[in-house]
Amino acid sequence: MIQFDHSYTRDLPGTYLRVPPDPAPAPRLLVLNRPLAADLGLDLTEADAEAWFSGTSLPPGADPIAQAYAGHQFGGFSPQLGDGRAHLLGEVITPDGRRFDIQLKGSGRTPFSRGGDGKAAVGPMLREYLISEFMAAMGVPTTRSLAVVATGQKVWRETKLPGAVLARVAASHIRVGTFQFFAARGEGDKVKALADHAIARHYPDLAAGDYLAFLDAVIARQARLIAEWMGLGFIHGVMNTDNMAISGETIDYGPCAFMEAYAPGTVFSSIDHQGRYAYANQPLILGWNLARLAETLVPLLDPVQERAIEIANDRLAGIATRYRADWLAVMRRKLGLLGEHETDAQLADDLLSAMEGADWTLTFRRLADEAALRPLFPDFAKMDAWLPRWRARVADGAAARIAATNPAVIPRNHKVEEALAAATEGNMAPCHALLAAIQSPFVEAEPFMLPAPTGFGQYVTYCGT
Ligand code: AMP
Ligand code: MG
Repeated sequence: MIQFDHSYTRDLPGTYLRVPPDPAPAPRLLVLNRPLAADLGLDLTEADAEAWFSGTSLPPGADPIAQAYAGHQFGGFSPQLGDGRAHLLGEVITPDGRRFDIQLKGSGRTPFSRGGDGKAAVGPMLREYLISEFMAAMGVPTTRSLAVVATGQKVWRETKLPGAVLARVAASHIRVGTFQFFAARGEGDKVKALADHAIARHYPDLAAGDYLAFLDAVIARQARLIAEWMGLGFIHGVMNTDNMAISGETIDYGPCAFMEAYAPGTVFSSIDHQGRYAYANQPLILGWNLARLAETLVPLLDPVQERAIEIANDRLAGIATRYRADWLAVMRRKLGLLGEHETDAQLADDLLSAMEGADWTLTFRRLADEAALRPLFPDFAKMDAWLPRWRARVADGAAARIAATNPAVIPRNHKVEEALAAATEGNMAPCHALLAAIQSPFVEAEPFMLPAPTGFGQYVTYCGT
């Protein structure tokens, strides 16, 4: 049984369309996240999960909707995107009072589908499952994955692929682009209602109607999130405004991937020709996206437009400093530093310039073990100068702190591809093995720890699959 509530449909009429998911012809449960189901207080059999999380039958109390949203995609504004292949079944409230959306993705066409088929393939849905569960294991705010169910239907991409539905759990699916949808249509009342809903739901400590505090709070959460991504070498790949959650969770795992050899300009997405969403650009895009959110809130910030814009600009101007402080906190943690010294920022910056070409993840993991660290580097000269500075700064117990904060295992691109290729052929064993490894990221597990063999080549990821 799932006890649904529907605060979004209740509070925000006119922001969504009611539409049922497509039933799957032959649903087959590929993976079910039992710990997450238990945390949510769901009481599920595998048969329930297979039927409900494939869209084949609706759980009692579900009220499926497709949400409207807009978004800047690679800098260009699309006034109408919306859930083109997703159905929000409703919300659940956990035994300890937290509220989460349960959404199906890949569950069929909606009025927002445009030219799309409304479907998803097994590979990309398992990819979202794997990477979001790793993020959760690392304590990074993220949507979660409850299940992936193969539909028994083929979907056409470049070739015919087995289809699947992902059941996704999120604090909400309200995006920067949700605000943009209504602002662009001049529906100020809906922007306000959406802000009121988001404040009550995600920022309950704020005073109702304090939209400036709301903007500040979203800035704070998103800045912290991007700082965490940077610490993990995570490249989201498609930081369009429709993929930035107001809750501050990582959302919409599409062409995302983790960087192996450190290079600030790293891009994996096949369509990101300009490197707009390159690793080192993500903090700048953070500010750009938040400016788009701020624009939608201008009418709520002050009755005098000029003054409202001035207030918003003032807050936006502070993002870079705030992000830098969040990033420094992440780096202190990764470097095993205790307390704060003035020279920490320089120490962190200098490590980055010394480690170009070295594996991002293992460099941090092995900082306290020079013999293991050395072979990671194409050129160790700068490290020979940097390491003594780090050792002088770091207190006793650094090795233990390093091992407790820096993952040994991440979803390595070649391992993810290997698992997804096998799953596409019907063999889930590699996927389960990888999942087990990345759910305990601090445990050294040799086959999952090492960078891709040199033959793996340049890794390319794809959108909208
Ligand atoms: P994304 O790139 O996944 O963030 O999606 C951007 C927009 O395209 C959203 O409005 C999606 O709902 C829509 N979309 C992506 N894939 C499909 C699909 N296969 N069918 C219909 N809509 C899609
Ligand atoms: Mg999206």
